[in-house]
Amino acid sequence: MIKKLLFTASLIIAFCAGCKKDGSVGPLQGKDDAAFAVYENSFLEGLWKLDPDRATTSGYHKYDSLLLIPNDQRRDKMISFTKVQLDSLSRFEVTTLSAANKIDYNLMQNEMESIQWRIQQLKSYQWDPDSYNVIGTFAYILNEHYAPLTKRLRNFYEKMANIPAYYKEAEKQIKNPVIELTNLAVDQHLGGLSVIEKDFADSLKKSNIPQNEQKQMIERARVSADAIKGFTEWLKALKNDHPRSFRLGKELYEAKFKYEIQSESTAQHIYNAAVERKKYLHQEMARISQKLWPKYFGTKPIPADSLSLIAQVIDTLSSKHVAPNEFQSAIEKLIPKLTTFVKTKDLVTLDPSKPLIVRKEPGYMAGVAGASMSTPGPYDKDGNSYFNVGSLAGWPTEKAESYLREYNDYTLQILCIHEAIPGHYVQLVYANKSPSLIKSIFGNGAMIEGWAVYSEEMMLDNGYGNDEPEMRLMWYKWHLRSVCNTILDYKVHAENMSKQDALNLLTKEAFQQNAEAEGKWKRVSVTSVQLDSYFTGYKELMDLRDAYKKKMADKYKLKEFNERFLSYGSAPVKLIKEAMLAKENGNDVKH
Ligand code: ZN
Ligand code: ZN
Repeated sequence: MIKKLLFTASLIIAFCAGCKKDGSVGPLQGKDDAAFAVYENSFLEGLWKLDPDRATTSGYHKYDSLLLIPNDQRRDKMISFTKVQLDSLSRFEVTTLSAANKIDYNLMQNEMESIQWRIQQLKSYQWDPDSYNVIGTFAYILNEHYAPLTKRLRNFYEKMANIPAYYKEAEKQIKNPVIELTNLAVDQHLGGLSVIEKDFADSLKKSNIPQNEQKQMIERARVSADAIKGFTEWLKALKNDHPRSFRLGKELYEAKFKYEIQSESTAQHIYNAAVERKKYLHQEMARISQKLWPKYFGTKPIPADSLSLIAQVIDTLSSKHVAPNEFQSAIEKLIPKLTTFVKTKDLVTLDPSKPLIVRKEPGYMAGVAGASMSTPGPYDKDGNSYFNVGSLAGWPTEKAESYLREYNDYTLQILCIHEAIPGHYVQLVYANKSPSLIKSIFGNGAMIEGWAVYSEEMMLDNGYGNDEPEMRLMWYKWHLRSVCNTILDYKVHAENMSKQDALNLLTKEAFQQNAEAEGKWKRVSVTSVQLDSYFTGYKELMDLRDAYKKKMADKYKLKEFNERFLSYGSAPVKLIKEAMLAKENGNDVKH
């Protein structure tokens, strides 16, 4: 999991240096990288104007005060914009661009086509009431310290003016909504309401805005909160005899996979590969478990069923874990250990000038996950990278125990490899070295997660954990989660997997606890495709490495592969592959 820190104000300056005031199309005969860079700026400027909420949460704050009404005209404007941009893009000769700009070009094109597809084919504005939730942007404006508090509060106030009209329009647009997403919308809107009702007023008290003005601002917050509550009441009372299924269906699923994952394979192909991978993992896990059995169970007879054999060994190994109050310090101790290992084995160069700081998770991140990364954006190169660790203080004993069994002595190390070294943290340090706004905004989730998963296996393959079979078994269990995420998502959305079959897959074949499996079912019923990113990215990266090994033959070096792969930034693996496997002709070296 990754959380990006906001970009600093310098982003705005960088943006506007090249933007055109009239919002017109890019250069007509621009066939070189300089012209393309200018065009990129006007492209983003135009996009932000049409999508202020996305602008704000991407770190661009010119339109913070705007809330656009989600009506037909707004979607029409967006469609026209995408047509104009696709036309502008077609005027560039892609082959003359640098490898980095080629990737940007592809990302921009994909983004425009993806917006068209979402508006014209997916049409989730009709059936997903949760897509109207704007509280997240308000929370961002309030909690992220990118500008003085007074300025952010005034933008917050201005933006609230359209809340009643915004939700009235939402009610007009929604037809036969998905029940699960309707319930989610009610929960999320009510859950976030305190941002408008309470947090805003609390922040006003800390500001130097005059009292009479504050009163007016609080009155608008009250009206806004009422409008949001009214929307949830409307959703609850909605007569919905023919709701859309939460399952996306095969055709929409494949298309969504194509735009969001940007893989060179179809979703079905990746699903088949995941099924194969699961089979392989089960075989290997059974083999290791058999070997470990006498060490942990003595002369007790080995279970005949291999899945229950694996489950019992995993269960026993999971009891090795730290105490709740040692959780953060255990992570702090692991970071230097991982750093030393990566250096000793010469896996990838680490930049000592960008240290990783382990910290207690800040309050506003409201501890859902135990650990996450916050990394600086490309315009905040001097910013810190944080490894946020949630405190287990105050957790009920049983909940803490179950959490610590999940993040036991083995998997806690894998977690730190995945999130930090050489996983997400190292990848983002590399991504920031060749800053591209396009890549940081449209960064490919499958590449980012794929690298983190790949780095786990790379560490073990190079002897991390002293080649202990216990470590390998627990990694396989951890890795099965990525693999089964893909199987689950595909089977549920593109086929018709029942809840019972889904829970069986997760608990019996992926060795998850009931609570985790229930949580995953909930997630798959309100999201789609995102769960594919871990395994798809991992698989494509492994395939690319095999192909690269062949290409380089005896010149192949793991470290060189890793660093070259990372040098393209957070781009889809298939585009990195094109660049890395291209014939060296001097053109593709420029990145
Ligand atoms: Zn991750
Ligand atoms: Zn325990």
